Amino acid sequence: MNIILLGPPGAGKGTQARHLVETRNMVQLSTGDMLREAKDSGTEMGQVVADVMARGALVTDEIVIGLIREKLTDKTSHGGFIFDGFPRTLAQADALGDLMAAEGQTLDAVIEMRVDDEALVGRITARSTCGSCGEVYNDNTKPIPADGKCTSCGGTEFKRRADDNEESLKTRLMAYYKQTSPLIGYYYAKDMLETVDGLAAIDEVQTSIAGVLDR
Ligand code: AMP
Repeated sequence: MNIILLGPPGAGKGTQARHLVETRNMVQLSTGDMLREAKDSGTEMGQVVADVMARGALVTDEIVIGLIREKLTDKTSHGGFIFDGFPRTLAQADALGDLMAAEGQTLDAVIEMRVDDEALVGRITARSTCGSCGEVYNDNTKPIPADGKCTSCGGTEFKRRADDNEESLKTRLMAYYKQTSPLIGYYYAKDMLETVDGLAAIDEVQTSIAGVLDR
């Protein structure tokens, strides 16, 4: 199954995608992760996007569509693709449809993770991830263990995203409402939209998503 996880920053897309990778052998395609990698390794494209990302604005459709195009040719056997943070504009959604068709693939569901804005600000400014495996922590709801070791891999380095601050978050939220939220109507009209409560506990959201995938 190939699915899109759709929702504003902090909705829990990355956390849920990681769980699906572990339990269903799916492949997570996070354009945010790909862009951060490009930025950290200092590629030309990484340098171009660094400033845009720091502000919380969207990088160009051309760049992210190019990144996804490369990944879709992956012919190794897996449980399907999870698009995480992509598409974010109507042009990206159209392009994804075309790319999938060209690869003989289908998009099976679009899962909207619904959350309210106040919860997002709290979640984002409190989040950190394990530098080794990417496990997500939250200062309030899932703090880094007292022994300083990641529960998933034992790693001891944790990092916070540079754009997880209130200023960038305002721009990211605005980008979501202006450019990405129209995708809710787009996929509803295609009869592909499923909505889950992103404010529920992590394991409850996992169960709701499993319900969609197993239907
Ligand atoms: P994320 O990790 O999904 O929150 O993405 C981090 C940042 O990367 C975003 O704020 C954008 O600057 C950029 N980005 C990630 N995915 C996309 C996309 N599909 N289209 C445009 N910009 C993106």
